[in-house]
Amino acid sequence: MNADSRFETVIGLEIHTQLRTRSKIFCGCPNQFGSQPNTQICPVCAAFPGVLPVLNREVLNMAIKTGLALNGQIRLRNEFSRKNYFYPDLPAGYQISQFELPIVEHGELMIEPEDGPRKRIGITRIHMEVDAGKNLHEGIIGASWVDLNRTGTPLLEIVTEPDLRSAAETGAFLKKLRAIVRYLEVCDGNMEEGSFRCDANVSVRRWGETKLGTRAEIKNLNSIRNVMRAIEFEVDRQIDRIENGEKVIQETRLWDANQNLTRSMRGKEEAHDYRYFPEPDLPPVLLDPARIETIRATLPELPDQKFLRFQDQYGLSDYDAGVLTANRELAEYFESAVRAALPADPKVVANWVTGELLAFLNKEGLEISQSPVQASALGALTGMIHKAVISGKIAKTVFAHMCVHGGEPQQIVLEKGLTQVTDQGAIEAEVERILGAHADKIAQYRAGKTQLLGFFVGEVMKATRGKANPGVVNELLINKLST
Ligand code: ADP
Ligand code: MG
Ligand code: ZN
Repeated sequence: MNADSRFETVIGLEIHTQLRTRSKIFCGCPNQFGSQPNTQICPVCAAFPGVLPVLNREVLNMAIKTGLALNGQIRLRNEFSRKNYFYPDLPAGYQISQFELPIVEHGELMIEPEDGPRKRIGITRIHMEVDAGKNLHEGIIGASWVDLNRTGTPLLEIVTEPDLRSAAETGAFLKKLRAIVRYLEVCDGNMEEGSFRCDANVSVRRWGETKLGTRAEIKNLNSIRNVMRAIEFEVDRQIDRIENGEKVIQETRLWDANQNLTRSMRGKEEAHDYRYFPEPDLPPVLLDPARIETIRATLPELPDQKFLRFQDQYGLSDYDAGVLTANRELAEYFESAVRAALPADPKVVANWVTGELLAFLNKEGLEISQSPVQASALGALTGMIHKAVISGKIAKTVFAHMCVHGGEPQQIVLEKGLTQVTDQGAIEAEVERILGAHADKIAQYRAGKTQLLGFFVGEVMKATRGKANPGVVNELLINKLST
């Protein structure tokens, strides 16, 4: 059974983004992955007695940048707190985080969900904190390894208000947020590799009820699709329980992508279980308003602004502007292609990018940065269609060639002799030849079967190996057939 007329779904998210700084948050160790276990660590990472953390200013700048991009208020005095808990991958026995005085509060993000109108989602807070290490269980029986390389990785935790009302809204929110952190170059947004992690808090309540229902917090969500599937499962589970007269328990649940269900992991801990207190080893962070303005001036054009500009400047549809601005590199690719295509219509360039190019890249599993077809080449190709050097059909052949071999379209057209024939005389000769061979079809055409025009056009194009200018072919045929 699904979220229905009797129950409303309520979702709030906690998102952990790993920041792309050069060094870690509290020491000088490199902030990078994939090294041999425990080779990127120092006494601070390993929490030796007597070490002192020093805040990396790049982390602070990225937190401010993200806060501004999400329209939040930056706290000029914010502070770190100690969150105490035991876990083998946390040698200090506590995590340095922010609690009562986070760096950002009261932000917002506008989403365009597929199941409803544009909507504002409140961002409760954004705070800086440190990531823990990793326990490794593979290749050893009856024990675990501890790898501290990830210890000290800077995180921004972004917490939303319980404003989301469906899996679709949640998906739209995560896509938008991921696009923004990528635009800002603060996080690579990779959910599979865990550098952009999301926990979903899900509850249901009867329509009209103003109090929130009891929530379950779902972890282990490594793709937007899994977040959406987990919410759908969880909503059904909670409604079933309530309808059967049972209570929803406040707990942490894990998503099992193979079995398509969530299962209970542990009871939910409360804030007081962590014995938070102000971090004694770090002074409060005092920010100068001038620093915030300096950072504001470095903000790039963000997806929403770019979306409006693309519509305005290039006359793009909602769909094309949405696809092209969802990703900064793609937007930049499109704009370089437009420059190379001028004076061709940018909408035609957009069609090539969102159509042929993305279809090819998706099929091959390539990122736009890995495209064998350069933006300038795709632009030049569109320009050649515009100038009638080649037909749209030939352009597809050239495009397919570039997908495999790269290269410049002018060169390929020259080498393969694909230049469009617009010379009236040459085309006319072909038209005459084709008409001469099909007296029966001419009679049928003249008797009213005008759809035969397509047949004649096809024959001429075939005879010229697609190089005849289709406009000229059409015009000549219509003239000759009607006389
Ligand atoms: P924590 O999970 O760390 O204990 P919070 O109380 O700050 O902390 O809540 C975390 C997230 O849970 C927030 O995104 C909030 O919007 C969401 N949330 C809180 N209560 C509910 C609820 N009843 N239903 C759905 N989401 C909720
Ligand atoms: Mg939580
Ligand atoms: Zn270190």
